[in-house]
Amino acid sequence: MKKRENVNIKQLLRKNIQKLEPYQVLSEVPAIKLDANENNWLAGCFQERLTEKIKSIPLHQYPDTNCWELRQKLAVANEIKEENVLTGVGSDQIIAWLVQAFIGPEDKVITMSPTFGMYGINTRMAGGKLIEIPLDEELQFQPEIFLKSILEEKPKLVFITNPNNPTGGVIEDHLLNKLLEEIPEDVVIVVDEAYYEFYGKTLANRIAEYQNLIVLRTLSKAYGLAGARVGYALASQVMIDAVSHVKPPYHMSSLDQAAGLVCLDMVSEVKESLVNTVKWRQYLETFFFQLNQQGKDTTLKVFPSYTNFILLKTVHAEGLIEKLKKNEISVRGYGKEGILANSLRVTIGTEAENRKLQQVIEAYY
Ligand code: PMP
Repeated sequence: MKKRENVNIKQLLRKNIQKLEPYQVLSEVPAIKLDANENNWLAGCFQERLTEKIKSIPLHQYPDTNCWELRQKLAVANEIKEENVLTGVGSDQIIAWLVQAFIGPEDKVITMSPTFGMYGINTRMAGGKLIEIPLDEELQFQPEIFLKSILEEKPKLVFITNPNNPTGGVIEDHLLNKLLEEIPEDVVIVVDEAYYEFYGKTLANRIAEYQNLIVLRTLSKAYGLAGARVGYALASQVMIDAVSHVKPPYHMSSLDQAAGLVCLDMVSEVKESLVNTVKWRQYLETFFFQLNQQGKDTTLKVFPSYTNFILLKTVHAEGLIEKLKKNEISVRGYGKEGILANSLRVTIGTEAENRKLQQVIEAYY
């Protein structure tokens, strides 16, 4: 019998896929998880209602391909029609669809940098060309360079993240309006509003005027539903129809859809957690500012945030991350290279988690 025990499968991969590494995730869940911008205030919040709801789900049947009920609920929540809503298994899936739908080998995609990594990963998978327009030293968006690059490079897709991850910063309204006006109609403009609820400003009300605009949202952040994977897009019907060319028939499980429905029903709990998160973000911002002002770490820089996380930069980044890890708190680090060298991103946790974080950091200095 001829066996195949030494096959170099990796070599069989498409060339541009070979260059990518499998995404690394934490293998152990730490006691206090402040590394992925989840909403810990809502831990366990949906369990009971979801368990009840699951009893009536026909699990032997494929899920509703149109995610009808979920889309209706999202439409009501956003004061929009359901034909303008597309749901995905996390906004990650919609980002992947956008690239699949519009980007072939050598097509160009423009993003800012640093920003959320999945735009680049998907572009590279598709063999497209990623053009990253750097933020300035203060990690602010550079509108003139961004627009100039779009007009010169003629990309098919543009990703704008507002508020941005991992900086927490936003693009001013008049600059966004200018971009909408000046970007040609044959460019698809994606505005990723994953952190919208913490900021409150949106371009969702412009989708009728700009058919080339698509706004991305998620239930993973403010809504505390990262484990169920529910993301959505708001766009003109022609845009939704176009992206749907690559949508598989049963992309989102009945369980994901049910979880989304339960979550959207718990309006007051979600709102309360939002208020708490913003309050504690302000508290921690002040705490970090004071570390600098009191001379405990004069290298510590706190970037203004409109999200549920804070980006910090300090020569002590590595030491702090280690110290936190020893105390079972995980935050996101960015290594020693590039514009985010010596930076760390801290998700706002619950009151108890934030106090523990503060205590460990105070003990470090
Ligand atoms: N966009 C941004 C800016 C994000 O930060 C994230 C999650 N980190 C996502 C999209 C993906 O979110 P989802 O869980 O909906 O896939």
